[in-house]
Amino acid sequence: MNASIREQFPILQQEINGHPLVYLDNAATSQKPRAVIDAVKHYYEWENANVHRGVHTLGSRATDAYEGAREKVARFINAKSTEEIIFTRGTTTALNLVASSYARSVCGPGDEIVLTEMEHHSNLIPWQQAALAVGATLKYIPIQADGSITLEDVEKTVTDRTKVVAIAYVSNVMGVVHPVKEIAEIAHRHGAVIVVDGAQSTPHMKVDVRDLDCDFYALSGHKMCAPTGIGALYGKKELLEKMEPIEFGGEMINDVGLYESNWKELPWKFEGGTPIISGAVGLGAAIDFLEEIGMDEIARHESRLAKYAMDRLSEIEGISLYGPREREVGLVTFNLGDVHPHDVATVLDAQGIAIRAGHHCCQPLMRWLKVSSTARASFYLYNTEEEVDLLVSALIQTKEYFGDAT
Ligand code: PMP
Repeated sequence: MNASIREQFPILQQEINGHPLVYLDNAATSQKPRAVIDAVKHYYEWENANVHRGVHTLGSRATDAYEGAREKVARFINAKSTEEIIFTRGTTTALNLVASSYARSVCGPGDEIVLTEMEHHSNLIPWQQAALAVGATLKYIPIQADGSITLEDVEKTVTDRTKVVAIAYVSNVMGVVHPVKEIAEIAHRHGAVIVVDGAQSTPHMKVDVRDLDCDFYALSGHKMCAPTGIGALYGKKELLEKMEPIEFGGEMINDVGLYESNWKELPWKFEGGTPIISGAVGLGAAIDFLEEIGMDEIARHESRLAKYAMDRLSEIEGISLYGPREREVGLVTFNLGDVHPHDVATVLDAQGIAIRAGHHCCQPLMRWLKVSSTARASFYLYNTEEEVDLLVSALIQTKEYFGDAT
């Protein structure tokens, strides 16, 4: 990855607390390149109108921009058609849509929804709520010490009563890539669907929903260089067609009567109200940007950085590193002895280094790890080995500063 990529991110050019910004909180949200910022600006300066309504020129420009972005998302993850791409606010909203509409209609008392204990709250609570509403049972695939799961355990957990298997492609804490394609095969053999939380995979690797054969796939734009407030749900057409909307109002209707109404065809029946048009435009621009660099190139860069970070971090005495030693994706989670992760993040911030500290929206996993919180550094295409070195020396200084606590 060359320096010219970094130069395309205006926010990275600043100093924080007198130091050049080292932004290592990409799993929370990524920074935005000039091309995305400009695309949103261009939209508001030249195309802004409401979509699917205006007969006027701006109305059709806005509609073309919005639907053009949908085509880009479909191509990016290799969906069969744009009918299979529902714009949402992000991964959370996408997963809630599947849990509230699909799961509640297919699950009854005694049916099973299968998860892992390392799921992000966004891929846990919607299923808890669905299970509570219909009397279904939640089951958990056991986790290995390094955060991986085995296919043997998947085979043991998924049964003919399982209706849904919901799992993150990449864990936002353990940095593990789950064998989603193989899990999909097991789920399908039992007549269940697989719902993939793609929040941490889509920004960092080539994703092919048809090759994975997943039934639903959720993604967030803001983690992949796009603005906040936009994301998407992919669903197989035959499943989406059978699902009822969960939001009702303007834009999603076909014919409205005083006592009954019916809905537009896919994908619009799930997009009630004025959508996040500028966000979709920004997501389209982000996809163009990432594709120009190449998802394989981005994945290679991050995996090199992750390996380097694991090597360098493991030199620090007293550090606990979570997840597999061999890393494919660019995030590393750790604790520095007994120093509270919030203290670590605060000391690092004073040196311009942004990392995340907390439970990372994974409280059940924190309990499983027997910690209350951890620190996490997460990389993206613009990060460098020099930044990993700065992180490591700042951590060594932090450890010295807190002395015996470690
Ligand atoms: N799942 C995972 C694995 C995540 O890392 C996140 C974001 N931290 C989410 C779901 C939720 O994404 P969003 O907040 O964009 O809806």
